[in-house]
Amino acid sequence: MRTKDESEWIKIPNHHTPLVSKELFEKANASIKRFKIPKRKQHSYPLRGKVFCGSCKHAMHRSNETIYRCRFSYMDSSQPCYGMTIRESELESIVYEFLCKQFEVSLGIDGPNELKPVDKVAVRRAEFDNQIFELQEEKRKLYEALVIKQIDVNLYKEQKALIEQRLLEVQNTKAVVMTRLEAEQQEKERQHQQKDVLQSLVENKGLTSELVDMLIEKIFIYPNKRVEIVLKIKNDLA
Ligand SMILES: [Zn+2]
Repeated sequence: MRTKDESEWIKIPNHHTPLVSKELFEKANASIKRFKIPKRKQHSYPLRGKVFCGSCKHAMHRSNETIYRCRFSYMDSSQPCYGMTIRESELESIVYEFLCKQFEVSLGIDGPNELKPVDKVAVRRAEFDNQIFELQEEKRKLYEALVIKQIDVNLYKEQKALIEQRLLEVQNTKAVVMTRLEAEQQEKERQHQQKDVLQSLVENKGLTSELVDMLIEKIFIYPNKRVEIVLKIKNDLA
């Protein structure tokens, strides 16, 4: 129970006959030691809100700022997670080492001389657009030839059909190739992003709430101290 601040009290002066005089009340009141409930501190620690019991799936309670324990099975010795604890420092180092390993794995993603994925995609798109433009020009010239009666209608139709066929082929190829390249580009960008994040992990030389929030969805603790880390960022090698 918490008392509201006095400024929020509703006071009705002289509502009832006093049992004691005002002076006596104030004197007595001043001598009473008020029991203050301190405002609950918002503790900040890297794995905040991430640690769950792998057995019963409940959030694990962080007690005395040093140990995580599953309190759901606190009174139930039949539960597999009964009495299960893990030291915070131990868990943090497990998580940190795990993330560092992920970083090492991610280092060899691409060579330094490779074209930026954006460039590659743009170059390919320009090549296709150029081919399409050339074919449209050809079609336009063919029509001009018809207009100035350089060719007859039959030849025009025949040639026009051929150009349109090639145009269709180029457009289809463009669609297929560009879809694939764009997917590749997205994947590369994702990997770059991941690399940046993990780089900062190593530079920081420790876990921070920011990094944990960025990288980790949940951490499950199992009775045999097995730790399962669910990453937010999809990593094929995780
Ligand atoms: Zn549990």
